[in-house]
Amino acid sequence: MKCVCSGYLVYGYPMHIVHIAAEMAPVVKVGGLADVILGLSRELQDLKHKVEIIIPKYDSIHLEDIKDLKRGHTTFKSSFNEKRYDNVMWTGFVEGLTVHFLDPIHPQQFFKRDKVYGYEDDLDRFLYFSRAVMDYLASRKGETPDVIHLHEWQTAVIAPLYKDYFKNKFNNSKIVLNLHNMGYQGRCQTHHLDMVGLKGEDYLHPEKMEDNLYPGVINLLKGGIVYSDYFVTVSPTYSREICTPQFGEGLDSTVIQYKDKFRGILNGIDLEFWNSKTDRYLPVHYSSLGLQKEALKKILRKRFGLKDDSKPIVGCISRLVPQKGMDLIKHAIDEVQKLGGQYIVMGSAFSQDIEFEFGNLSHKYQDHPDVHISLDYQEDLAHLIFAACDMLIVPSIFEPCGLTQIIALRYGTIPIVRRTGGLADTVFDIENEKIPEEQRNGFTFEEQTEKAFDEVLRRAFDYYNNHPDKWYDLVRRVMRADYGWTEATKQYLEIYRR
Ligand code: ADP
Repeated sequence: MKCVCSGYLVYGYPMHIVHIAAEMAPVVKVGGLADVILGLSRELQDLKHKVEIIIPKYDSIHLEDIKDLKRGHTTFKSSFNEKRYDNVMWTGFVEGLTVHFLDPIHPQQFFKRDKVYGYEDDLDRFLYFSRAVMDYLASRKGETPDVIHLHEWQTAVIAPLYKDYFKNKFNNSKIVLNLHNMGYQGRCQTHHLDMVGLKGEDYLHPEKMEDNLYPGVINLLKGGIVYSDYFVTVSPTYSREICTPQFGEGLDSTVIQYKDKFRGILNGIDLEFWNSKTDRYLPVHYSSLGLQKEALKKILRKRFGLKDDSKPIVGCISRLVPQKGMDLIKHAIDEVQKLGGQYIVMGSAFSQDIEFEFGNLSHKYQDHPDVHISLDYQEDLAHLIFAACDMLIVPSIFEPCGLTQIIALRYGTIPIVRRTGGLADTVFDIENEKIPEEQRNGFTFEEQTEKAFDEVLRRAFDYYNNHPDKWYDLVRRVMRADYGWTEATKQYLEIYRR
């Protein structure tokens, strides 16, 4: 139980915060962004702050996860490309949070599609969303939020839009932007800014929104950095990394320029949604005092047609994009078998070539006793894999925070990760003598090479096979650590109050 009274004392008077994002778990989720919106919002609301979330009303939204979904009584108008359009705002409750779903009445049917991202008109879709959300908030007289919290390039344009267009319609709201991944920046043309009502040419300047790598191009994420009151990325290590050309993806100099309004705050996970004792998707519940790994492994093997065996199971749950270290994810197929384990991959692909490549692998191993590759996104099965596996690999090339390693720890599944970004802030090698023993919780490697990866896998298997007592002590210990949002929320509130 959280002590709300102490929340008041520590964090002061209640604030009104509106998160504007493209995803929210569990109603519409592609990756970690969705988890962050859920977890951070819930923690803020538990501390008695007023929290609202605004996301698009995609066709693919899981209606069964929304309570009391109601269509707004009236439509409201928003501007786009010099025309006015009607919109409907739906409102419902997701995991106890108030969520508004924007439903544009627009001939391009921006969100009446199967997928969240990956369309040629993604820029139009999210620019429309950003402008319409601001028209909506401005129309709600007397309900000005204290903080408008933006996430990713999809909503970053709201920062300049607010400062240069909407500001006098609000009562001194502040803009916070979260950078969840510098790999996605929303590069576009000046006419895209014209569409939302800004004069695009005026922003084509190195001190404003001109892309640092491609002259003549507008960069929406840069606009978010320049025009926000504060911006945050999702781990301390990544906050340092993106100040370098290697990780900054062209925006390193802008991040450095605005470093006085910038911080890295390590993500948490929602401790109710990710709870092995109550998980709504798990067939068997367990805790650090009563592990049920063997029962869950049996179910997992059966579900994926693996041989019922006593081998350790290694899992990988990931978007299949180059950032995630796909070569090592593939390489692990042979390596895990050589070490005497079973291997399960649950990966979601977003390009045809990756879908083709992993589709072939999935086909190749479909009747294999020790390997299963699912090219799919399934929340329920992801929970089963997190819970049942002994180890989880995260061999990312870069990783802003990474949540799968944190979820794995919470479920007593030992992470094997490359030491980068948030992985370096959350996983500490059991042999790392510089770290207090009680904080060591997994296996890490540095070099993005097969050799380094094979070596770390070998060490993990050796520990599992030859030190079973120590292994189970480790499993129990990592499950008891705190992975929640308390500490991060304290830091966000500090920023909100500035
Ligand atoms: P990213 O945001 O870069 O995708 P994170 O590790 O921060 O990576 O978050 C990934 C989130 O998405 C986790 O909650 C993970 O369980 C989930 N996820 C990723 N791929 C899949 C998948 N194929 N099926 C189900 N869940 C997935």
